[in-house]
Amino acid sequence: MICNDRETLRVMVEEANKLTKHGKVADYIPALKTADRDALSIAVYEEGTCASAGDIQEKFTLQSISKVLSLALALMDNGEEEVFSRVGMEPTGDPFNSIIKLETHSPSKPLNPMINAGALSVTSMIHGGSVEERLGRLLTFIHELTGNPSISYNEEVAKSEYETADLNRALVYFMKQHGVINENSETLLELYTKQCAIEVNCEDLAKIGYVIANEGLHAESQRPVIPLHIARILKTFMVTCGMYNASGEFAIRVGIPAKSGVSGGIMASVPHRVGIGIYGPALDEKGNSVAGMQLLEVLSQRYDLSIF
Ligand code: GLU
Repeated sequence: MICNDRETLRVMVEEANKLTKHGKVADYIPALKTADRDALSIAVYEEGTCASAGDIQEKFTLQSISKVLSLALALMDNGEEEVFSRVGMEPTGDPFNSIIKLETHSPSKPLNPMINAGALSVTSMIHGGSVEERLGRLLTFIHELTGNPSISYNEEVAKSEYETADLNRALVYFMKQHGVINENSETLLELYTKQCAIEVNCEDLAKIGYVIANEGLHAESQRPVIPLHIARILKTFMVTCGMYNASGEFAIRVGIPAKSGVSGGIMASVPHRVGIGIYGPALDEKGNSVAGMQLLEVLSQRYDLSIF
């Protein structure tokens, strides 16, 4: 078990930390600019125990990792047929915020739920009468997954993204024109940016990763919190599209279903075994945490975690 080997985990973090100088903190959302480039922490959750290294109390926003959770909720709300009529199942090979395939593909529904266009379409399917109610439902779901009822969203990050989200606005307008999205653009952008600004720490992330790894059963109570078939869909998207347009290389080098976000978080789910949460805000050019990817690679090799 990884959790019996805490010293190894500490050394791995120390080694991977040397890579942060090769990365850059995301700055296209102004409020993310202030993150400490050299921060690196990890929590590993398995069979009711958790091991960690680095400052795991540090909070960060989910950003794209939230796309996995909004997809779970949208699938529970609407069923597969409805969701996949408005978002596809194929990887793109393009950057997360690209608009190009919306125009070149017919029908112009986004290719998958992990790119921004797809995630915006998915978020528009979360049920509820207002932004507050829909965000509240997502937060309640996250409280259930983590057992941490204090999780909320970071208002400053949400506002900062909302005010600068012109590319996401363009994606929404394009999809509205093509009938993929049917709601008010600003309402959707408000919900999406608040969803992306939900704030967690590594331990929360490791617990969510564990539920997804554990066929949707709660980490402590073993109660079903995500239906089995949905947990499988989430893991599959994490493998095929979870690490942006580096997902293929990541599958070969690491082989673990994972989802990253531009705040530097990575959530990983080793089926039937482990949930992992990482925070390392120094990103490579594709938007993945440089040190976080390295950490997952050495962990995967040492504990034979690849699913392939
Ligand atoms: N909120 C971010 C955006 O839409 C999420 C991007 C990411 O983490 O990949 O641009």
